[in-house]
Amino acid sequence: MIFIGKKSVLCLVAALAVLALTGAGIFAVCATVEALVVPVGAVVAIDAGHGGYDGGVVGVSGTKESELNLELALILGEALEARGVQVVYTRTEDKALGDTKREDMKARAEIICGSRPDCVISLHLNSYPDKNRRGVQVFYDDTGRGSSFASYMQERLNAAINYKYSKRCDLAPQAGDFYITKCAPVPSIIIECGFISNAEDESLLKSKAFRRELCTEIAEATLSAVS
Ligand SMILES: [Zn+2]
Repeated sequence: MIFIGKKSVLCLVAALAVLALTGAGIFAVCATVEALVVPVGAVVAIDAGHGGYDGGVVGVSGTKESELNLELALILGEALEARGVQVVYTRTEDKALGDTKREDMKARAEIICGSRPDCVISLHLNSYPDKNRRGVQVFYDDTGRGSSFASYMQERLNAAINYKYSKRCDLAPQAGDFYITKCAPVPSIIIECGFISNAEDESLLKSKAFRRELCTEIAEATLSAVS
């Protein structure tokens, strides 16, 4: 198996020592506990959510989720390929992969499974009735597979993106019963790249410079343990 979860025992010991001495919370000390090893030459499947008749959610100024997902997927793919990773996309055009949502998802599963990936990253955008909600959030399968990958990715995105742009570093990865994270028996995550129901997040996501910055961080986090 290519993915190796690395637990930092030293970090835990240090955290417990500080906890004993000061009563401080472990999480304040133990910010980095997991890392993922993906060797150069690995295959990453990138799924741009929605497409074609299924535009996904719509932003406050009318932005279509499916279009931005595709832009993000292509930038992320370039960033990974530049770092020696083989990339397989579920789609590279703004169209669905089937006449119904069911057929579309089945086609995505076939592409993902057929590529025998080492990990899967599905890109989406969020929307929420509370228009103040912001930030990039990571999801993983409720079987627990991909939880280390999701935790590490979330931590990196909190530090590099969420804190920088919205002064938030408390977003946590969440597990759920997602079709796309069950397509292949490898760590599979969904990254909701921001809330387009929030005007500031939507504005950022419409910026090519921001999309590059975000995708570079996602690519480097994916490959972070490769030296
Ligand atoms: Zn979506």
